[in-house]
Amino acid sequence: MSTFGNHSPEEWESVKKRFNYCCAECGIEESALIFQSNSQFSALTRDHIIPISKGGTDLINNIQPLCISCNAKKRDHLDLDFSPEFLAPIVTLHSESFQEIRPRLGKVVCTSCPADPLHPGHLSCLLESKRYGNSLVVIVNGDWFLTNKKGRPFMPLEVRSQIVAGIRGVDLVVPFEIEDDTTVCEALKVIQPHVFTKGGDRTDPTNIPEWEVCEDLGIEIITGVGDSKVHSSSNLLEDWYHRRINLFMEQG
Ligand SMILES: [Zn+2]
Repeated sequence: MSTFGNHSPEEWESVKKRFNYCCAECGIEESALIFQSNSQFSALTRDHIIPISKGGTDLINNIQPLCISCNAKKRDHLDLDFSPEFLAPIVTLHSESFQEIRPRLGKVVCTSCPADPLHPGHLSCLLESKRYGNSLVVIVNGDWFLTNKKGRPFMPLEVRSQIVAGIRGVDLVVPFEIEDDTTVCEALKVIQPHVFTKGGDRTDPTNIPEWEVCEDLGIEIITGVGDSKVHSSSNLLEDWYHRRINLFMEQG
C-alpha cells in the first residue's frame, strides 16, 4: 500500500506541543504515560485521523497524538481494509483455483511455514526463498501439526494463512491440514515445485523428512535459507506467558 506524503520528526513534535503533550482523546499527559510504564515506548503514538487504509495521508495535518490505549480502541472500531489485490491467493491443494493458477507460476519455489506467530526467522526464509525461482508458494502448516509440536496452535490455520498472504513476494498460499502427518510430503506431491527450501536451522538435506519425496520427484532442496539465528515461536510464547504471570504476581 503506497502512502501519499510523509511528515518530519520536527512536525510531529510541533503537533504534540499543540496538544500540550496530551492524548487528543482522553487527555492523559505524555510524561504520565512514560512514568507509568517506565518506558519511552509508551509515549504518545501517531494516529492517522483518516486511516491510511481509507485513503488518509501521512502528512502532518492528518496526524494527532493518541495514547496507546486510545489508539488501540480506535483500531477496534475500524473494519480493517484487506484490499485483495495486495494479498496472495489462498487456495487449497485440490481446488479448481489451484489447478488454474499452478501452470502460470513459472519456476516454482516452495517452502513451509507455520507462522504461529510469524517471527523474523520465518520472514527471512520466505524473502530469501523467492530468489530461487519465479514464484513462491508457501505451505502453511496445519493446526494438527502445531498441536503435535507444542500442545496447541496459538492462531488458527485460517488466520496464519491470511498473515502469510500479506507478505511481499509470496505468490500463493496453501493451507495444509492432514492429521497425523508431521511432513508436507503430500503437499509437495501435488504442487510439484522445482525447489523446496528449508529455514536457517536445517543444514543437512538428507535429514529433512521430505528428502525422499523430493528425490523421487526431482525437487531441488535448498537448506539453511534465511537468517541463521535461532528464532522460536514457542519460546516467544513461553517467554510472554511467564512475563505475564510475573506481572500478575507483582500486582498482587
Ligand atoms: Zn488516550
